[in-house]
Order: sequence, then C-alpha cells, then structure tokens
Amino acid sequence: MTITEISAIRALVHDVPDFPKPGIVFKDITPLLADPTAFTAAIDQLGRRILHHAPQGIVAIESRGFIFGAALALRLGLPLLPVRKPGKLPRRTVAAAYQLEYGSDRIEMHHDAVQAGLRYAVVDDVIATGGTAAATAELVAGQGGRVACFGFLIELDFLGGRTRLGSGAVESLLRY
Ligand code: AMP
Repeated sequence: MTITEISAIRALVHDVPDFPKPGIVFKDITPLLADPTAFTAAIDQLGRRILHHAPQGIVAIESRGFIFGAALALRLGLPLLPVRKPGKLPRRTVAAAYQLEYGSDRIEMHHDAVQAGLRYAVVDDVIATGGTAAATAELVAGQGGRVACFGFLIELDFLGGRTRLGSGAVESLLRY
C-alpha cells in the first residue's frame, strides 16, 4: 500500500474532541466507512497483514469491531466470532471484565464459539488502553484458543495499549 493510500485513509478518520467525555479525543471512522474505495483499501491492507499470522478465525469486538471484523472475515474467508456486551448472546456464555479509556465494561462470547487449538485474530477499530483486546484474548485463551495476532485500524500509541497484550503480534494500520 502506498503512502498516498495510507494518507487517504488517515484523512478520513476525524478527531472529535471531548467525546464521549471531556479530555477524550474520539476517533470518528464514519467518514472512512462512507468512502468505499478507502474502506476497501483499509480492509485489504489490514487483511494482508493479519494473513501473515495465519489465523483460522476472526474474533470481532462489539460494536465498531464488527464492522472491520465482518469485512475481514469475508475478505479472508474465515469464520467470524462476535464478542458482545453483556446480555446480548442467547446461549451460555463465558465473560471477562475490563477497563476502558472511559469507564469499565464486560464482554461475553458463547461458551462453544472458540475451538480449542485453533488460531484467532482479535479485531477492533481502535486500541486505546488495550483493556478490551486483552480481555478478549483472555476469553479466547480460556476456551483453549490461540491468539494468532491482534488487528486494529487505529492504535493510540500514547496510551501504550499494546504492552497489555503480552507477546501477541499487533497489526495496526494507523498509529497516533
Ligand atoms: P481500550 O479497551 O481502552 O483499548 O478501548 C478500546 C475500545 O474503546 C474500542 O472498542 C474502541 O472502539 C473504543 N475507544 C477507546 N478510545 C477511543 C477513542 N479515542 N476513539 C474511538 N474509540 C475509542
């Protein structure tokens, strides 16, 4: 991917200061989603990077992670496993609690979603503090799965999120 393409993708991620709380600069990806050429380029490039880690499934984190996770799963021909907010999944779940850049939360997966021994790419739109991705990795590992890599459109370097992901490979398209 050329620097021009990366710059085009970066230009379509808008900073929204003080959302959802004072002091947070929210990364608004909706302009990128509204541009099919740039969105396709972002999925192609992230998909290529993720593919190097030979995942056998995509674990996508609610809710903006679903947008990228679903596109990547279709692009790479891999199963998609949704990680959801509490109370959304209809069958028995496994859960993990985590801290957000703004607040705390819980995530759940169906207890039989992950297949033991298989390799998964954990996908979200943004890694901030890394709490959500770390909790997701915990869920995958707790069910006997292996985390092949983490894939993010955006990494907020200054928050040091990747240090919470242990030795797992991290692929992020845009770093701030
Ligand atoms: P964290 O657990 O701190 O890495 O937070 C990651 C989750 O929170 C992701 O699902 C993001 O969608 C969301 N998030 C955190 N910080 C931001 C931000 N500055 N802009 C947009 N989304 C964010």
